[in-house]
Amino acid sequence: MVCYLGIDLGTTNTAAAVFDGDAVTPVRTREGGLLTPSVVRIDARGRVTVGARARKLVDRDPDNTLGGFKRLMGTARGLVFPGACVERRPEELAAEILRSIRDDVREQVGFLPEQAVISVPALFELPQSAATHAAAQLAGFAHVELIQEPVASALAAGWSADEDGAGAWLVYDLGGGTFDVSLLETREGVLRVIGHDGDNFLGGRDLDEAIVRWALAELAADGLPLDRADPALAMPLRVLRTAAEDAKIDLSRSAQAALTLPALFDGPQGAIDVDLTLDRTTLEQLAAPLVDKTLAVCRRLLAAHGLGPEQVRKVVLVGGPTAMPFLRDRVQAGLGAPFAEGVDPMALVATGAAIHAATVGLDARPAAAAPEAGEARRLWLEYPTMSPDPTPFVVGRLLDGPGPAPVEVRFVRDDGGFATPWTRLGPDGTLLVTLELREKQPNAFTLEGRDAGGAAVPLLPPSLTLVCGRTLAEPPLSRTVGVALANDAVHVYLQRGTPLPAKRSYVHRSVAAVAKGSSDAVIRIPIVQGEHPQAHLCRLVGHLEISGEELRADLPADSDVEVTVEIDRGGRLSARALVPCLSQVFEQVAHLSIPEADPAALAVHADALGERLSVVRSRPGLQPTHVDRLLDVEWSLQDAQAALLAARGGDDDAGQRAHRLLIEADAALGEVEDATRWPELDQRVRNALLNASGWVGQLGTPQEQRMLSESGAALEHARQQRDGEALERHLRAVNQLTAAAYFRHPDSWRHQFEHLAADVGRSRDPLQAQRLVAQGREAVATGDRDRLRDAVLGLEALLPARVAQPIPSFRSDLR
Ligand code: ADP
Ligand code: MG
Repeated sequence: MVCYLGIDLGTTNTAAAVFDGDAVTPVRTREGGLLTPSVVRIDARGRVTVGARARKLVDRDPDNTLGGFKRLMGTARGLVFPGACVERRPEELAAEILRSIRDDVREQVGFLPEQAVISVPALFELPQSAATHAAAQLAGFAHVELIQEPVASALAAGWSADEDGAGAWLVYDLGGGTFDVSLLETREGVLRVIGHDGDNFLGGRDLDEAIVRWALAELAADGLPLDRADPALAMPLRVLRTAAEDAKIDLSRSAQAALTLPALFDGPQGAIDVDLTLDRTTLEQLAAPLVDKTLAVCRRLLAAHGLGPEQVRKVVLVGGPTAMPFLRDRVQAGLGAPFAEGVDPMALVATGAAIHAATVGLDARPAAAAPEAGEARRLWLEYPTMSPDPTPFVVGRLLDGPGPAPVEVRFVRDDGGFATPWTRLGPDGTLLVTLELREKQPNAFTLEGRDAGGAAVPLLPPSLTLVCGRTLAEPPLSRTVGVALANDAVHVYLQRGTPLPAKRSYVHRSVAAVAKGSSDAVIRIPIVQGEHPQAHLCRLVGHLEISGEELRADLPADSDVEVTVEIDRGGRLSARALVPCLSQVFEQVAHLSIPEADPAALAVHADALGERLSVVRSRPGLQPTHVDRLLDVEWSLQDAQAALLAARGGDDDAGQRAHRLLIEADAALGEVEDATRWPELDQRVRNALLNASGWVGQLGTPQEQRMLSESGAALEHARQQRDGEALERHLRAVNQLTAAAYFRHPDSWRHQFEHLAADVGRSRDPLQAQRLVAQGREAVATGDRDRLRDAVLGLEALLPARVAQPIPSFRSDLR
């Protein structure tokens, strides 16, 4: 029996499901539940407990019982278990959860699964996906593929809702800590994700936090103020938060929930009890801003696709908080579309992942005991693992090898309902058969072979599996991926929306020379992800390094470096750099991690943004849209400052959140800056024209003078049209004309040379620069203008200013 395993590795809870070809069954935990809380405890003796049993201990031993590590996946951060004095990386903790899932699956189906599909949030970035792969490997999986959670939900909802037709679907997934909304449509039987949006820092946890704040306010109103910044309160606050979560979940079914925690806090006057009653009205007041935020994201997504809520045919609710009646009502009122019926919001993602495992033929069973080599003949086969067509072709060819060769083969469907006739192999061992599939499920076939005498001949592979059903379009890349260049520009490799898998190569040039064997000289190639043309506004997701230590020979500046970036279906990044002149390839992507959110560095960034904000604010001629945008920036900055405060208290999530907010604020501010930079541009135009009319008027040819007046007119036109790009282009043309005229002046090359010679220290290749200076001095002495010009041009090419303006964050050595 085939077995496909899907795992929804959640921030809060992990769920798994198996698909046997007929039905999807949730995997039960050893406690009998359907969810494994994503919580790991390591006690003083180093014993590891996970899931429900660990979560029960959060209250008793919060320091050694940690959850929420999914949010730190892909960072270099270790989580410390003080009891056992050990530190674990986020992926190691995720691996504990996955290991426990593997054990549960074995209980249920009788073998330890080897392969699975694991879901990750749509907004996961590459390092986070890589960490998920690492976790699966640590947990002992031989192979896993990743699927974006909304894609999995869509697949599960589309699979069970047996319909085709017009209209978009919206998958609304609110989890413990992330919100994802995706827009999907079915067209000609193919389910497609046409867009998604979300917030990596929005979820049920925020509601727990709001309840904690409410409880503290209630206590303060009773004359018991508590200072949250007091480190002694950290532990009781966690206990309170867990109780708040339980109360919240109770309220999905009952009208009231008690929050009773005797002697939770130590006050100056003795123990303080918490004894509060949370009712639905209060919860709804606390939840309303959260739900409204999610609705705003939904509207933003719809607007981005030119749709209104009325064009949404169906809404699929996913995630724990969507069990709240209040949330359902408010989302219903806000979006106005009917909910998909009959889907369990907690099981949907795992179900979809299991179905996806079937579509990519990722059977969880340990590799079937292969027939002894020599006994079986190998067949090369080509067929669609997922076929919308119930009668697909299989083509194949018998490969050379020892052992008896079959004359005829046939394919027998495992349910016994179909078998191909015995089919004779062609003269060169070729084969073509048509299979018949049962709809919407995996179909396993056994391959049989026999020789001329009718004796059975074992074949490799012994079986194959095809799924008949709707296919998912290739998953799109969620964010643009590129390489940061020395001038902080991003060279885009893969645009957002590119179907995965995808791979692209470009040739760059190295900025500086690297000597063979030098340990501190490297060529750094940062890989960034984001939509901004400036690299420092994108996210650094990894980098390649070409170190002098590994070079076969010296690498001069300006050498070709061919970089290849590849992303697999699950969003896993790999990259390599080829240096053709040395025939050397550098593969390892070092530091594939989200830089840790260092509060001090973030504070500097926030201050700088504050300054830029006040400068832009005072610019003349701001449009109302700019003012709105700047207001958003200000809000983000304030949120970031608040998060920074929490980060200083040791909250890593808050640090990451501040980092993200600042990057977004930076990008938004940059756009307004670009849009309002005209007065400064005007000034540059005036200066350039003034300079040009002097030199071109005096030393230009008549043709150059005519070109200058044409460029002047074009500049004026661009200025009126507010066309920044055209303006820059014509400015460049004007400056070139000026330079051409200037260099006709008898002393200009000498002036330029002296100027550059004084600056040799900044050159990218000082040795070469020294040689050029010597050559230039000789040329000045002998009056050789041509050689002098060569020296000047050579020196200019070696100046870093040629390729790099100030580099705000990621050092890149490519251009
Ligand atoms: P994740 O995808 O982050 O693992 P889940 O979908 O498992 O998250 O949702 C976890 C969140 O759902 C938690 O914040 C939990 O408190 C909340 N939750 C679970 N069940 C309910 C319920 N019945 N009512 C309200 N909230 C719930
Ligand atoms: Mg989830």
